[in-house]
Amino acid sequence: MTRLLIIGPPGSGKGTQAEKLARHFGVPAVSTGDIFRTNVSQETELGNQAAGYLDDGDFVPDQLTNALVKDRLLDADLQEGFLLDGYPRTATQVAELDTMLASQGFALDAVIELSAPDAVLEQRMRRRAADQGRTDDTVDVFRRRLDLYHRETHEVVSVYAGRGMLVPVDGSGEPGEITELAIAAVEKFLATPSPRA
Ligand code: ADP
Repeated sequence: MTRLLIIGPPGSGKGTQAEKLARHFGVPAVSTGDIFRTNVSQETELGNQAAGYLDDGDFVPDQLTNALVKDRLLDADLQEGFLLDGYPRTATQVAELDTMLASQGFALDAVIELSAPDAVLEQRMRRRAADQGRTDDTVDVFRRRLDLYHRETHEVVSVYAGRGMLVPVDGSGEPGEITELAIAAVEKFLATPSPRA
């Protein structure tokens, strides 16, 4: 029964690591970015509302994002644990998530922060643009996403650091190596009694 978050800038390999970590910890990974992209490609109402924000590298409005996560957290497959990827991204979303989890009687166990230098992130984005063709993987949109990350998501990291829940992981190496580092760091963190317990 593990409830985890993973936070990291665009290009940090957050999605890749989320999948691998979720498998290791035996919980489903929930990526708000993936959910939005699926909805955009299926042209659902949510997708049509979100598409422009994704293409511009802007955050989808909180009202849509919070409602999406709130619904998803009630699904049967998440009652025994989950790994959230891409949410919360703003201080407001942290407060929303706190409320959602409290109403379900849940609490997070750890928050993984993946980091890598901006130059590494941009280089990876260029490679991914060639491989995957994501509409938000152009240099301009990528820089906007990175800028938003530094401006807004930094606060999210600070909040969880203040709660003593942050597990920093160096995301600048090869994917397999990062997974090993992350698993070791999270397991060590979970095995260490919390000072608040
Ligand atoms: P990346 O981390 O590479 O930016 P994601 O797949 O996590 O990619 O997110 C892609 C896009 O989905 C974001 O740029 C944003 O438009 C939207 N999105 C995902 N999560 C959120 C969120 N929590 N709040 C607002 N928008 C979000």
